[in-house]
Amino acid sequence: MRQIYNFSAGPAVLPKEVLQQVRSELLDWHGCGMSVMEMSHRGKEYMAIQAEAEADLRDLMEIPAHYKVLFLQGGASSQFAAVPMNLLRGKTKADYVNTGEWSKKAIAEAKRYCEVNVAASSADRNFSYAPTQDQWRLDPDAAYVHYTSNETIGGVEIFWTPDTGKVPLVADMSSHILSRPIDVSKYGLIYAGAQKNIGPAGLTIVIVREDLIGQSMPGTPTMFDYKTHADNESMYNTPPTFPIYVAGLVFKWLKARGGLVEMEKINIRKAALLYDYLDSTDFYHCPTARENRSRMNIPFTLKDPSLDEAFLKGAQERGLLQLKGHRSVGGMRASIYNAMPEEGVRMLVEYMKEFEQKNG
Ligand SMILES: *Cc1c(COP(=O)(O)O)cnc(C)c1O
Repeated sequence: MRQIYNFSAGPAVLPKEVLQQVRSELLDWHGCGMSVMEMSHRGKEYMAIQAEAEADLRDLMEIPAHYKVLFLQGGASSQFAAVPMNLLRGKTKADYVNTGEWSKKAIAEAKRYCEVNVAASSADRNFSYAPTQDQWRLDPDAAYVHYTSNETIGGVEIFWTPDTGKVPLVADMSSHILSRPIDVSKYGLIYAGAQKNIGPAGLTIVIVREDLIGQSMPGTPTMFDYKTHADNESMYNTPPTFPIYVAGLVFKWLKARGGLVEMEKINIRKAALLYDYLDSTDFYHCPTARENRSRMNIPFTLKDPSLDEAFLKGAQERGLLQLKGHRSVGGMRASIYNAMPEEGVRMLVEYMKEFEQKNG
């Protein structure tokens, strides 16, 4: 098989070791004669797989006991509605910080349920940075404060934990969850679609403080009520069994590599390979403010955009895939999640240097 490196923003690269294990047990999971895909979600084999995945995630992220972990479907996009439905709790207002495309979508959806106060925005500089806490105009009567801790499209990451006092803090961590340790106890709720840094598409993870569950707004669909899933161990209906199984293997893979403390070191090193090179040349340009440069999603442009197509074609020929930037911003984007080997980033930088030498 040809060695390629997949820089897709999502669905994204998975650890090769995990895929190999999936393949080896695909038809016969641990001698039970069937695939995980074929198992009843209420059978003891599958129940153990899901329980172990949850235990490993709790371990990795040090999730306190008074938080529920929910394995859901519907994508992070469903959480844009589920968060206000569950967390308004009789209040009428919520604070949102707008740092780019995903924040905007979360804001637009929340407006269907409540008054949205945009507490801070980086629209003034084309969403190339994140406003610091002193620029956040928080409303003490807000039901919660929502922010996107890593903007996947703009490549803007927030490395500090906002302080929202008694108002619950909510984060969309879809594209950088598990890339470094975070203090879960500072959050009311964290959510993430799996297909960036966790596992296959089809699974959405919600980590929510227990006291925030059980006060959903009238009319909330049963399936959108966190209480439904919290009371039923995420088995009220059929959970996305196969993605949960693969995510569980990814959690074990992360633990075997030393957990999130070690992953952060690796991710710092990997991102620096690319950013250091981008800083050393003006053939390429990275639009993101230094203090918010995402370690997971790295957008860059060529000084001469008429070379974009040739750049992508040459990359493709070397097995460096999916580097085209998001349609809303153009240019290039390299997503280098946990599962992207350091060697992949090195190959990319090497290619970029050669391309510059030929065309610069
Ligand atoms: C990909 C992404 C989403 C949307 O996720 P879906 O699972 O496709 O709904 C939301 N927020 C962020 C930050 C993302 O990266």
